[in-house]
Amino acid sequence: MDEILEIKPERIENDFKILETFTDPEAPWTRRAFSLQNKEARKWLADQFRAAGLDVYNDAASNLIGRRGGDGDQVFMMGSHSDTVIEGGRFDGIVGVLGALEIARCLQDSDIELSLPLEIVDFTCEEPTVPISPVGSRIIAGDITQKDLEGVITPFGETIHKAIDDLGGDSSNISKAKRALGQIAGYLELHIEQGAVLEKEELAAGIVTAIAGPCRGTVQFIGQPEHAGATPMPDRKDALVAAAELVIAIEKIVTTTGMSEENVGTVGWMNVSPNMINVVPGQVDMSVEVRSTDLESLVLVRKSLEEEVEKISEKRKIESKLTWDHLEDPVPLPLFMQDVVKSAFTDLSIPIKYLPSRASHDAARIAPITPAGMVFIRCLEGKSHCPEEWTSMDDIVLGIRLLGQSLLRLNENFLKNKKG
Ligand SMILES: [Zn+2]
Repeated sequence: MDEILEIKPERIENDFKILETFTDPEAPWTRRAFSLQNKEARKWLADQFRAAGLDVYNDAASNLIGRRGGDGDQVFMMGSHSDTVIEGGRFDGIVGVLGALEIARCLQDSDIELSLPLEIVDFTCEEPTVPISPVGSRIIAGDITQKDLEGVITPFGETIHKAIDDLGGDSSNISKAKRALGQIAGYLELHIEQGAVLEKEELAAGIVTAIAGPCRGTVQFIGQPEHAGATPMPDRKDALVAAAELVIAIEKIVTTTGMSEENVGTVGWMNVSPNMINVVPGQVDMSVEVRSTDLESLVLVRKSLEEEVEKISEKRKIESKLTWDHLEDPVPLPLFMQDVVKSAFTDLSIPIKYLPSRASHDAARIAPITPAGMVFIRCLEGKSHCPEEWTSMDDIVLGIRLLGQSLLRLNENFLKNKKG
């Protein structure tokens, strides 16, 4: 299929320049959900959506939505988020929102009608500004209900109810924002990779296969604090040596279990007690986090980790406890959506590269109710959620062309299935 949308790079560049001015003046590239800057940016975005010929509304979750193509329950959807973490960069989420906007403008320029209405979305609060984040995409998927909002306070000291209402939502009726299974015929999101796989392979873009689910827990080793001089080595119950064994074991487990190239594992923090130079450490509390884009591997990794903790504590005759605080399954993106995106790569003569996402996205939240597809573009040295986050305008433009072509391919696919 030929490329028929005429993406205009200067228009996109201008959008980026304006949107980045809505930032906390004390901390560049900061536009946290529910902040003053978030509200102002939303007003500007709504104006741009209108200028692109879209009907603009906020759903009950205060997701900002621009709609094209008339009535009807079923829609195609594209989007991402314009909120950021503190000093969180200029592209994470933003390329997906501004990319969808540019495509809406191109459809208007060329007067192209799709077989279903199109909705482009700036999802509310994707970043972890409140404990129940991502808010907007989870409400659409029915994963956050009225009860979950109770007691949630934003960093700006307001209840989440007030924050959602101030952004144009209806916090006392959030179930109105929920979409039924099948109501969104397909969802597409453009995002920066937030890793360095594409850059290392000198590729500008890739097709996302799955989105990893993080599993987080804490491990406690309780040994015996004793004199570091007077206690002979065979008599010790050193909790830190046990913890050290586990750190090394986790690296080994994730790199040798199941589809190991899909796994990662990290010990991010450790508290040692009593933390003194002349005392054998008596207790260690440590975090464990494992992720995989392959469910079977993730289950095996978790099981091996549990066994390893027991093995170490038996061997060293010390107590241990592993508690999983948060378990999430990986979200595979449907093969036919990967094919839709792949056909766009082929149409534009871009080399095909499949890769998983180990960071989470709105696409993962919305995937339970709609087939979701994602295009990744490379970012400099894989850096993200930091002021150094950078993606070239050339890569952004290419990503938006791929997003637009994917939408046309999705539309074609939908028509074919309807007829066939
Ligand atoms: Zn993001």
